[in-house]
Amino acid sequence: MLTIVRIHNELLGTYGDRGNADVLAFRAKAAGVTSTILDISYRDPMPESGDIYLLGGAEDAAQALSLAALKRDGVLSRIAATDSVLLAICAGFQIIGTTFVNGENEVVEGLGLLDVSTVPGKSRCVGDVKIFSDLLGIELTGFENHGGVTTIGSSAKAFGKVIVGRGNGDGAHDGAVSGNVFGTYLHGPVLARNPEFADFLLARATGMKIANVTDPLADEYAVWRRSVTK
Ligand code: GLN
Repeated sequence: MLTIVRIHNELLGTYGDRGNADVLAFRAKAAGVTSTILDISYRDPMPESGDIYLLGGAEDAAQALSLAALKRDGVLSRIAATDSVLLAICAGFQIIGTTFVNGENEVVEGLGLLDVSTVPGKSRCVGDVKIFSDLLGIELTGFENHGGVTTIGSSAKAFGKVIVGRGNGDGAHDGAVSGNVFGTYLHGPVLARNPEFADFLLARATGMKIANVTDPLADEYAVWRRSVTK
């Protein structure tokens, strides 16, 4: 049984990233893997037994509340040292970095699971994004909506090179990755836009080759999005 943990959707639900959990469960089932989605609110204890943990995007105030709850229970910091997979989108990506600047213009410490830091940019990054991911060897699309500009430190790698849009804010790179910890600015939800990424994460989490999922509509949608994002 694969356990997918959807974290703080009441705080990190602004951009619909909750759909990432549904895509993972749908494709896991199609690959013959049973799964369950655990919705963990900021008041709930965080399970340690999850296989895939998901954080979404949010406005600044909600982002601060989520970070406070995650620091209180400390579980995400422990799971990042295991084989569990963590996918963090936008505000979630900033939360798991070393520092970011909050809505009050203060520098706050993140969870430090990815060597990235975020400061306010000169203008908000809003619109369609296309990146090339070396890790997956394909283009991925999504949309972005963030004020933060993120710099990658020496112990993390970019998740992708930007083809269209701003990504981390510099227009060169998007996201970051270290082991099984993934951060990206791509909403969409990113796993609905890019089913290959969902299968990649499922493979990482299960240790199985996930290559037998048939979902022509999702494939067609991904291809179409890549062709029109320019
Ligand atoms: N509040 C953060 C920013 O604007 C993250 C936004 C988001 O998650 N879309 O940079």
